[in-house]
Amino acid sequence: MIEKDFWYKNAVMYTLDVETFQDSNNDGIGDFRGLISRMDYLATLGINCIWLLPFYPSPNRDNGYDIMDYYSVDSRLGNLGDFASFIQAARERGIRVIIDLVINHTSNQHPWFLEARKDKNSPYRDYYTWSKEKPENPEYEPAFKGEDNSIWEYDEVAKEYFLHRFYNHQPDLNLANPAVRKEIHQIMGFWLALGVSGFRVDAAHILVENDDPKDQGEFHDLIEDMREFITTHSRDAILLAEASGPPEVVGKFFKGKERMHMMFNFLLNQHTFLALATEEAEPVREGIAILPEKDFSSAWLNFLRHHDELNLEDLKPDQQKVVFEKYAPNKDMLIFGRGIRRRLAPMLNGDQRRLELAYSLLFSSPGTPVIQYGAEIGMGDDISLPGRNSVRTAMQWSPERNGGFSEASPSKLPRPSISQSDYSYKRLNVIQQQCQPGSLLNWMERLIRLRRQCPEIGNGELEVLKVKHKAVLVCAYRLNFELVVVHNLGGEACEVTLPLLKEDHESLIEIFSDSAYPAPKESEVELNPYGYRWFRIRKKEVHEEAQQKKKQQK
Ligand code: BGC
Repeated sequence: MIEKDFWYKNAVMYTLDVETFQDSNNDGIGDFRGLISRMDYLATLGINCIWLLPFYPSPNRDNGYDIMDYYSVDSRLGNLGDFASFIQAARERGIRVIIDLVINHTSNQHPWFLEARKDKNSPYRDYYTWSKEKPENPEYEPAFKGEDNSIWEYDEVAKEYFLHRFYNHQPDLNLANPAVRKEIHQIMGFWLALGVSGFRVDAAHILVENDDPKDQGEFHDLIEDMREFITTHSRDAILLAEASGPPEVVGKFFKGKERMHMMFNFLLNQHTFLALATEEAEPVREGIAILPEKDFSSAWLNFLRHHDELNLEDLKPDQQKVVFEKYAPNKDMLIFGRGIRRRLAPMLNGDQRRLELAYSLLFSSPGTPVIQYGAEIGMGDDISLPGRNSVRTAMQWSPERNGGFSEASPSKLPRPSISQSDYSYKRLNVIQQQCQPGSLLNWMERLIRLRRQCPEIGNGELEVLKVKHKAVLVCAYRLNFELVVVHNLGGEACEVTLPLLKEDHESLIEIFSDSAYPAPKESEVELNPYGYRWFRIRKKEVHEEAQQKKKQQK
């Protein structure tokens, strides 16, 4: 028995942007009604939690992360009624929804900012951070290096400079102001009342610094305050931090039941890419070894790619170089001097063997997996689009116009669908892959089903076992059952001895693999190039007894 069943530790998450998922009224923009029409697709894919990108009213200069109103739905995407119907549709299918909580900053079009800039005595003035002079040698660099060169912007109306860690149209909220804290509670309470199961706390590593800019470097009580609020107002909603940084920084976000329930695992993400690039297992072992401690109730959210760049900031320069050279050979694939703006499939040359290996690694990493919409069919990117829009093109449902996303004229879409190359919707889409038994989509459905049947990964103790082969990673999870997952990151077939069968009567039962293999001889297992095999350890007697019973029944 699992000590306590925390739903988020055994979930499979799926992230999507309403704007690019499905258009229902053919105006070229995805909407909640379109999303509702695809809920059976998501339910049968097997995911059980959706992380929705921001859908709030917004000038949309940062893909909706520039919010003008925290209590509504952007009219291009629908209205609050549609949102409630979506939550209902998700609930009926056993799917939870978590939403983005973007409280580090607002849009400069938010009424709070409009008030604050025009009136020094307005109570909203203090919702933001101002300075009469432009501070010299600011503590922090802008988050989007190359796009903005300062974190202070002069405002003509206020006649002062305001702080912004992201774009200059996103003034940072003054989170030390108790009135702002109150607003955050109210926003959380509003969406909890509408049925969400939690929040992705956007830019969490930056907002804790903004909590008290005069006392930088210290960890403050903002997160604990939010945790207390969510625990009081919901039985099981969660806070998921988007916080990157070295282990000692991100480690502070976990503190038993006082801080975050979950955190994006940026450290393991970067090490996994290093492992894929070098075809060696060691970087994954290292990525796991450096993870800061957490208690049983907390969890890592593992991912390969999402709507942002693949940020490699926490790797050493020589390690970054290896990944950049392999996966971003052209300069225009790089962004902000630290990341890659490509989807996974093109990075791996569309090679299904290596895609399967990467996703098998992801789904067996300690924690909970999340995939970005379209990952299940190996969608590509469009590098000709500016910035991170390259990885935010419309979902490819069918070979029809705009990939079945919308019947509108292509010029009305937020960004064009991919219609050229091997990644064109004409060749690569959901319908076509549903018809092919060996497609990535059908494989992904099996992987999702498997992961949901392996609670050991979210709850068990992980031991990374040593084997002689450099390319082979062996992870064993112990809980009620024992699960052993073996990956060959290299392009050469190999055979390894697994140092794990503790007793003579234990044996390996294969539950998932890249192809049919001969049954393992004791602890010896073969692996194809980029092969993977998942096993359970069973007591031989139990297995033999069951077989005998079966024979007798026949
Ligand atoms: C989001 C980005 C966004 C930024 C600023 C991030 O953490 O993931 O897409 O640009 O916050 O809001």
